[in-house]
Amino acid sequence: MRKLATLQTISAIEPITNADSIELARILGWAVVVKRGEYRVGDKIIYCEIDSLLPERPEFEFLRSNCFKPAQIDATGRIAVPAGFRIRTIKLRGQYSQGICFPVSLLPNGDHIPIGTEVTAELGIVKWEPPIPAGMVGKIKGPFPSFVPKTDETRVQLLANALERHKGKELIVTEKLDGSSFTAFHYQSQFGICSRNQWIDEMDGTSKYVAIAESFHLKEKLAEMSKQLGFDLAVQGEMIGPGIQGNKYRLEFVTLRIFNVVNLTTGMLLDFDQMQEVIKSLGLVAVPFLEKVTLNHSIDELIKLAEGKSVLNSSTLREGIVLRPISQTFEPDTGGRLSFKAINPAFLVKYDE
Ligand code: ATP
Ligand code: MN
Ligand code: MN
Repeated sequence: MRKLATLQTISAIEPITNADSIELARILGWAVVVKRGEYRVGDKIIYCEIDSLLPERPEFEFLRSNCFKPAQIDATGRIAVPAGFRIRTIKLRGQYSQGICFPVSLLPNGDHIPIGTEVTAELGIVKWEPPIPAGMVGKIKGPFPSFVPKTDETRVQLLANALERHKGKELIVTEKLDGSSFTAFHYQSQFGICSRNQWIDEMDGTSKYVAIAESFHLKEKLAEMSKQLGFDLAVQGEMIGPGIQGNKYRLEFVTLRIFNVVNLTTGMLLDFDQMQEVIKSLGLVAVPFLEKVTLNHSIDELIKLAEGKSVLNSSTLREGIVLRPISQTFEPDTGGRLSFKAINPAFLVKYDE
């Protein structure tokens, strides 16, 4: 779970070229444009990450003209996300700005709350989630199964310590694709299909997830592969194409690009080379491999590395990159394994509505 609003300190203030009324504040690995003179290095502040949805309260009204989002209603008519002010990535005077800072006085007793404390709920902040197109998922069978790890990637902006600790490590860089997370598993002789957060009824012929699983014959192939490997497994990838996230890569058909093969007996990801082999023998395709790097990068350098065009369509901005070692290693800062994303800020400015 992301901590959207936390108490933090301003670690640096930097000038912005050709701008005298604003400057850049550094908070964790984030860069935030603030009014000049508003904060000083060492100041304790409340920091809200991008994707924070601030409630309609007087103290946030100044955001209305740029950030207001009406309530999001889901397919069943319920309010999925309330109305509020959505914090997104912006570019000011050539400088990307991600998130927003407030003085600690916004909270009663704010002065006494320790650095790092999450205050999301206290401020009435929730996560902005774009509306999910109805009809894509289909019939839900149940919650996401506990025997499969959920797909997720931590943002590099939060990983200063991990970058230091893993310096010198060789990392695989893949393109982060902007579609929908897909999981198919073979577990204790049972086949299943999941979206990001749900277990989908594999008999529902209307589901895009079921259709793609059937087109790759995943039920039979995973059973066979499991027998061959001697353990239960899941494949996880990004479903992309028409009807999904605006089909940014302008594909003609829905397809799947795999980023994880999980040994469900141990809960571990297969090593990069073995994963590539398994993906191939299943008749699947992996997410685009970009390069191997030896980790010796600052957060800013990794964000720079994320910029560029997509391998799938050279006129589409890349959403970002995902970096991970060849073999899964334990990493406390990313909730278990070292693997993280750097999002292309230009992509966020362009597409993140
Ligand atoms: P956040 O938690 O930051 O608000 P999010 O959890 O909704 O965002 P994303 O920003 O899409 O998710 O990042 C994680 C997702 O990226 C994974 O769940 C996976 O579906 C997707 N993904 C796309 N390409 C890759 C890739 N190359 N490697 C790993 N995951 C990838
Ligand atoms: Mn996430
Ligand atoms: Mn995504």
